[in-house]
Amino acid sequence: MPTEPDTHYDPSLGKKFIFVTGGVMSGLGKGITAASTGRLLKNAGFDVTAVKIDPYLNVDAGTMNPFQHGEVYVLKDGGEVDLDLGNYERFLDIDMSSDHNITTGKTYQHVIEKERAGDYLGKTVQIIPHVTDDIKRRIREAAQGTDVCLVEVGGTVGDIEGMPYLEALRQFAHEEPEENVLFVHVTLVPYSKNGEQKTKPTQHSVKEVRSIGLQPDVIVGRCEDRLESATKEKIALFCDIPTEAVFSNPDVEDVYHVPLMVEDEGLDQFVLERFEMEEEALPRGQRANEWREVVTAEKDEQVDVALVGKYDLEDAYMSIHESLKHAGFELGADVTVHWVSAGDLEDGHDGELADVDAVIVPGGFGMRGTEGKIEAVRYARENDLPFLGLCLGFQMAVVEYARNVLGLEDAHSAEMVEDTPHPVIDILPEQYEVEDMGGTMRLGEHTTVIEPETLAYDLYEDTSCTERHRHRYEVNPEYFDQFEDEDLVFSGTAGNRMEILEHENHPYFVGTQFHPEYSSRPGNPSPPFVGLLEGALEGPGRETGDAADTEETEVTH
Ligand code: GLN
Repeated sequence: MPTEPDTHYDPSLGKKFIFVTGGVMSGLGKGITAASTGRLLKNAGFDVTAVKIDPYLNVDAGTMNPFQHGEVYVLKDGGEVDLDLGNYERFLDIDMSSDHNITTGKTYQHVIEKERAGDYLGKTVQIIPHVTDDIKRRIREAAQGTDVCLVEVGGTVGDIEGMPYLEALRQFAHEEPEENVLFVHVTLVPYSKNGEQKTKPTQHSVKEVRSIGLQPDVIVGRCEDRLESATKEKIALFCDIPTEAVFSNPDVEDVYHVPLMVEDEGLDQFVLERFEMEEEALPRGQRANEWREVVTAEKDEQVDVALVGKYDLEDAYMSIHESLKHAGFELGADVTVHWVSAGDLEDGHDGELADVDAVIVPGGFGMRGTEGKIEAVRYARENDLPFLGLCLGFQMAVVEYARNVLGLEDAHSAEMVEDTPHPVIDILPEQYEVEDMGGTMRLGEHTTVIEPETLAYDLYEDTSCTERHRHRYEVNPEYFDQFEDEDLVFSGTAGNRMEILEHENHPYFVGTQFHPEYSSRPGNPSPPFVGLLEGALEGPGRETGDAADTEETEVTH
């Protein structure tokens, strides 16, 4: 059977493309630089989207270990993608689909399927043109309906895996009018021992880009400070671009300040001119300003939150960190996240939680650390400490309650202990059949019905909410009645799935089977996170409105 025909995009639509590559080393924040530029174009009145290219062979990020790659970000459509897509969604305030994450796995899988179906009519199937054509098609399709599409190529120029993509971009630029495509190369400008900004790594990396047939139009130098004019001039001379096309990207205290810095440098203006979009752009004074207002708002309060997890790596819980920041912007609070290893709590080390204002138990998979997470839940419940349990955190709150309040000895999730006497968390009966067939994870956006006159209703101010999911296990329906007999309330449900829980006799104890952290944005924070910080600000031992008790507890490892 032939595979679906590839649709074709009409270049006369006049879309603009910004291709972003990285040089010298990865981790320079080229995604943030790109997203920040996109944000400014959005403020100027344009529809902006983004595509992240991950040149690895995995089809998607679903199976990737958070300790190596950071969190798996979940999209509305259930796509499990690279965490950079989270940055694009947060900076551009858009919802993306799985098609916006191009991986080598996806591309090759499609090309091979077409080959098997005979779609190539007996031709030899090759990287050029078949794989490169598929890459170009994917970029054009993801860009449809928008004015500007940012395309970030993961990794560093020169990586073997990235080659087909750079070749595809070269062809792409060739097919488009010159004013539609802009190449931005982000590189590192280190300091020498005697405090001089060194351009040699940039020169080498641009040489590499040019050897592939690409000429950067813009070079962004990541440096501790702004680039000096002599540094810019040198880069311009050696890399064959005007000095005005060299921009600084110095360290900033908060990634959300990068758009402000990019604006200061005038990169957005440069892009608008190059794309001949100035006339359509809103005049400077009329451009949206909320971003600046949100991210520079005064913060008079300090909140300390313990994150009880498995991976001592900020990126593994990136969206949670960001959601706390967004809630902090809203409430004027600076949030310090204290990493607490779930393993350390297993021997009854509650001391780790004694000095914080709130506790989060995040999502996760597998047995390791679960007893420590259950211990964190118990501590928060018994000590009236504001608590938010996310996905596995929600499930562990159910287990803790079953064990310590309902007296169901050795209650657990069937994921952790298959033959537990009380599988209070289990696969739904109707899922068992599906499980045998392999397709099991409940992914992406689903709607939860919220009970009026509950804390959940106060948070969402609505009788429903639609949030993203990534789980396989659920509260076991056989135990519903026993739970609701006591003070645990399931205030959000979806059919016979329990989605939100809360405790009536606790200042703030909320668990969600879904992941609210994936839809939180600066200026539009996630309700359960705002609630958690509000609870923390009113919590035991705090003088409200007084920032005096802000002494920082040591980060515990
Ligand atoms: N491991 C649990 C499940 O599969 C929770 C998943 C999660 O926290 N994302 O249901």
